[in-house]
Order: sequence, then C-alpha cells, then structure tokens
Amino acid sequence: MSQPPGQLTFVAPRRAKPARHLADLSMADRRAAVAELGEKAFRADQLSRHYFERLTTDVSAMTDLPAGAREKLAALLPSLLTPVRELTTDGGTTRKTLWRLFDGALVESVLMRYPDRVTMCVSSQAGCGMNCPFCATGQAGLTRNMSTAEIVEQVVAGARALAAGEVPGGPGRVSNVVFMGMGEPLANYKQVIGAVRRLVEPAPHGLGISARGVTVSTVGLVPAIGKLADEGLPVTLALSLHAPDDELRDTLVPINTRWKVAEVLDAAWAYAARTKRRVSIEYALIKDVNDQEWRADLLGKLVKNKLVHVNLIPLNPTPGSKWTASRPEDERAFVRRLKFHGVPVTVRDTRGREIDGACGQLAAAE
Ligand code: SAH
Repeated sequence: MSQPPGQLTFVAPRRAKPARHLADLSMADRRAAVAELGEKAFRADQLSRHYFERLTTDVSAMTDLPAGAREKLAALLPSLLTPVRELTTDGGTTRKTLWRLFDGALVESVLMRYPDRVTMCVSSQAGCGMNCPFCATGQAGLTRNMSTAEIVEQVVAGARALAAGEVPGGPGRVSNVVFMGMGEPLANYKQVIGAVRRLVEPAPHGLGISARGVTVSTVGLVPAIGKLADEGLPVTLALSLHAPDDELRDTLVPINTRWKVAEVLDAAWAYAARTKRRVSIEYALIKDVNDQEWRADLLGKLVKNKLVHVNLIPLNPTPGSKWTASRPEDERAFVRRLKFHGVPVTVRDTRGREIDGACGQLAAAE
C-alpha cells in the first residue's frame, strides 16, 4: 500500500482492537476493571506495582496475590508485542526491535544508550499517513493506530532489558522517551496522551519518567498542538519543519498544504509560552534541496529570539529515495548562518543508521 505523492491519510483504517491492558487504563479504571473481575479494588494497585515497578507480567511470580486472583488478573496483562527481530550496533548500546502486534501489524522501536541517559524511540502508529517523501515510514501508508498499552509496552520492554543488564553499561533505566518512531503521534492523539500519562505518572500509576524527558514529534497538526499545550504535561514538542518556505515545505511535508509554515510556527511559540518548554525544530538537511544558505537565513529569521532549539539531521538514506545528505561544507555553512542569528543549533548524530534504525528509516518489514 503506497501513497500517491502529497496524499494525506488522517483517519486510520478500521481494524479489530488489541486486547485491553492495564496500561490502557487510569488507576480509577483499573480498580473498576479489577472489581469487574470479582477482585478487591486494591488488587489494581498491587498489579500495577508488579507491572510498572518490577516490570513483570508473570502472575505466577506475584506471591502477594492469592492464587485464585492471579489467574483472573492475568486478563489485564495480555501479551501485545511479540519480538520478531532484534538488531544491534554501537557495541550493543543501540538496539532496534521489530515487533508483531496481535493482528500481524509490524512496528519498530529503538533503544539508544548514551553515557548519561537512555532514550527509547517509540512508534505510535503502524505505518504513517503523512507521506513525507524522504521518510521510509511515510512511503508505506497508514496501517492502523496503536493502542496506549501497545505504545507503553515498547518502553516497558526497553526498561526490562536495561534492568536485566542486557544492554552493555550495566543495569540501567529509561530516562527519555521520544515519539519519533513510526507514525504521526498527534494523528493518534488520545492513545498517545494516554501513553504519555502512563510514562510520566509515578508508580504504581505509571513508569515515573520525567515529563522533561519525553518528546512528542509532529509534522505540525496545528489544532492538536494547541490541545497538547492544554494537557498540563510539560513534554517537549519537536516540530518537523524541514523547510522555512511554504513552496518547498508543501512538497517535503505535505501537511503544509493544510497548515502553513507561519501557522505551525505560531502554534509552536504558543506551546512554548504555555509550557515554558523549549521547542525543538527538526530539519533534515537534504543535499541541494533545503540546505542553501538563503534558507538557513530565512529559518534563522523565523525562529530567532524564540524559546527554540534547531536540530539539524543529516538525511538518512531510505530505499528508493533520490535524495542524500548535504555536503559537509554546506552543513557547516547552514550551522554558521543559524548561529549568526543567535539560534541554538546542534547537528544530530546518526545513531542506528547501519541497522536502518535512524530517523526516517523505520519501515518494519520482515
Ligand atoms: N511523524 C512525526 C514523528 C516521526 S519523528 C514527525 O514527523 O515529526 C521522525 C523524525 O525524523 C522527523 O523529524 C522526520 O521528519 C525525520 N526524518 C524522516 N525521514 C528522515 C530521513 N530520511 N533522514 C533524516 N530524518 C528523517
């Protein structure tokens, strides 16, 4: 299923839903669900501690639960993700996992361990409807939205691997989560917000990851950016801009035909004002496409004096794409122009490129 150029898909195809899981539910709903199963409501807290604190789903090991309760409560911990393949690089500190969902849909997540942090890059949809021509995920179209628990489970799986010492560097914890895997998170708004809540709420409610460590990346769905600002969740917003002018952005990020550069930047500044969080502008540098000095100048003028950080990403290769990363000298000139305008800028490393695990390379094929 490939999408004709420029076509956008907002509404995910209707599909059977994955089974209900503890991580889909608020604590109040968990208590209700446990009561429905004929158990005392406080069992929801116990079960939640096992899942979010001890990272276990094996009810037979939950010795604080009466044997009869264990089997019933297991219904709230269905297995949602089946690992299909794991690829590692950087001496094991970068690992990409391909998962099969209950209905055969495939998604990927990437764990990246740095000296001072561990970042999990998670998928929010199987496929993507936003059709950016330089992104591998966009080429396959949208299969379906993921459930809150399917999203959370990717992080829990990473946390488990770290806790078990499977990732070189000794036992560790997930400190950052970026919604930069497959999918457009703000096109699956409700499930993604549910997942963010589970990630940031302290145990037994959730995983207790700092909201400051969570980044939601978007092509720029303007109304949803406004809604996100109102959630009271101080997560970082990343905006995939990739061009400072509408003419080029219309082709690189087709959502721009709905919401123009000026509108999406206004939404980003409103987000920054509301949350006091620095907005991250993502800009993949594509050789001779968007990397001219005049575009750097235009970008600099648009974002200077704002609560912003520009993240330049050397374009990662994707199958069938005619584009490549900018020449080093053009990249340097681009950085220089932005600095000239006083704009904080960094060039992102291309971790995971060798295993097609870097930005825009997730395509989830077996
Ligand atoms: N749909 C959301 C979440 C995906 S994040 C979004 O677009 O923001 C993935 C990031 O990698 C986005 O900034 C995306 O534009 C960027 N990207 C996509 N393809 C890329 C490629 N081939 N090289 C470098 N970055 C890419």
